[in-house]
Amino acid sequence: MHTVLHFIHGQETRGSGPRVGPVFNPSTARQQAECVYADRATVAQAVAHAVVAARGWAAASHNARQQVAFRMRELVLRDIDALARLIGQEHGKTFADAKGEVSRGIEALEFATAAPVVTKGEYSRNVGGGIDVYSVRQPVGVVGCITPFNFPVMIPLMMGAMAVATGNAVVLKPSEKVPSSAIALARLWQEAGLPDGVWNVVHGDKEAVDALLEHPDVPAISFVGSTAIGEYVWRQGTAHNKRVGSYTGGKNHMVVLEDADLEAAADAFVSAGYGSASQRCMAVSLLVAVGDHTAQRLRELLLPRVQALKVGAYDDLKADYGPLVSAQAQRAVLGAVDQSLRDGAEMVIDGRSLRVPGHEDGYFVGPTLLDRITPEMAFYREEVFGPARGLMRVADLDEAIALTNRHEYGNGAVIFTRDGRSVSRFVSEVEAGMIGVNVPVPVPVGYYNFGGLRRSKFGEAHMFGPDAARFYTKLKTVSQRWPEPDAAPATSLAFAPNA
Ligand code: NAD
Repeated sequence: MHTVLHFIHGQETRGSGPRVGPVFNPSTARQQAECVYADRATVAQAVAHAVVAARGWAAASHNARQQVAFRMRELVLRDIDALARLIGQEHGKTFADAKGEVSRGIEALEFATAAPVVTKGEYSRNVGGGIDVYSVRQPVGVVGCITPFNFPVMIPLMMGAMAVATGNAVVLKPSEKVPSSAIALARLWQEAGLPDGVWNVVHGDKEAVDALLEHPDVPAISFVGSTAIGEYVWRQGTAHNKRVGSYTGGKNHMVVLEDADLEAAADAFVSAGYGSASQRCMAVSLLVAVGDHTAQRLRELLLPRVQALKVGAYDDLKADYGPLVSAQAQRAVLGAVDQSLRDGAEMVIDGRSLRVPGHEDGYFVGPTLLDRITPEMAFYREEVFGPARGLMRVADLDEAIALTNRHEYGNGAVIFTRDGRSVSRFVSEVEAGMIGVNVPVPVPVGYYNFGGLRRSKFGEAHMFGPDAARFYTKLKTVSQRWPEPDAAPATSLAFAPNA
């Protein structure tokens, strides 16, 4: 069994921490590797190298940094199949889904090559008294990136590509469940010509995260993960005077009006609801049907579609989705379904007893659909990170909007309708960061900002898009005068405009 090591200053290393953790293949439930966990000293070592590397990298020209991003894009594209297989082995997602994930990561690299454009400053000549004012954006230094299990390549690239392209060094702490892709990316960055120490990876859990949150030489933290941990990271990070962007859980409502193309809505719900075994922060969790007739018709349309889903191992090319990431995740989803039934939900499709031939021990849950979910149920209130989805009924658009807005999360929200006025109301009144109109997973393209509202995000930053470039840079505003040699000295002490 191999050991996944840290990657510090261009080299794989065990670090000084005594702890290790298992890495499982969720399709078989067998341990396939062990991963070293960083202690504080190992994190400090990574940060020390990153500090030095960041200075040199910040001094590199924009063009030099762009060239590395361009090369990295080519290398990730070259290795897309290998990366997808690696994701599948540790995460469990299917090959096609994993390739889709890597493609979205490539998109982040493509936008990162625009860093010189999005970080351009401003210049005003002679604001008064011969003074010119200009602003510049400079890299913040060392960025701590803490990432979740569900996108082992895409999220490190969505965060890290722009952090690197704007001249920072990164210390990435990936999820300990899926540690290998971060190392694969580190090797690719090295091959792309990124100087040693600019992209470091430390593995581990709370100890490593706390070390980053408290380290005085890490001025910025990007976090993606669950809301409880994300709120903690935001509070701890800001208490240590860092800028923190923390992107957390979701419970995405998909509202379907009577006039929608219901067949298209049913197809969209199945792909956005069950894809990747529903382990996506932007997965549609709840189908909110407006009117009983709509609910009934959607239920009829969903039945054959959901029952036809094929669940299999990550390397089963015919599978629509794979296992959950861990035994704990599997138990949590099954427990949430059981609880919903005790709370009065109606089982429409029961996937709890699914067994995948040849992979009987894998962490699979079959596609499950529950009807008559109500806002009081834990199944409604909590994020269920697995393929159990709920159907709800509301009387009209007002009720649908009010329901969506009462939820603590505001990551994504979706409406299916043919009515422009309803869309206009939905877009302006719904409190979600990403809104889909007849589009079920509205993760925007890389050159738009991404981030939820309410308790789906802490802090003002956005994970990618132009705001990310601003997050990874600090702004300085300079007022300068080049007086003539014989100019009279200023004598007044009054605080006055530069007239
Ligand atoms: P998680 O919160 O368990 O882990 C995220 C990171 O935090 C990991 O690196 C983990 O090692 C670390 N961590 C875990 N426990 C910690 C602790 N006690 N103290 C400090 N750090 C700790 O999340 P996960 O299960 O890996 O990912 C799934 C979650 O991520 C879901 O809630 C999902 O909605 C969310 N997510 C959100 C977005 C978004 O953009 N909003 C995107 C993807 C995933």
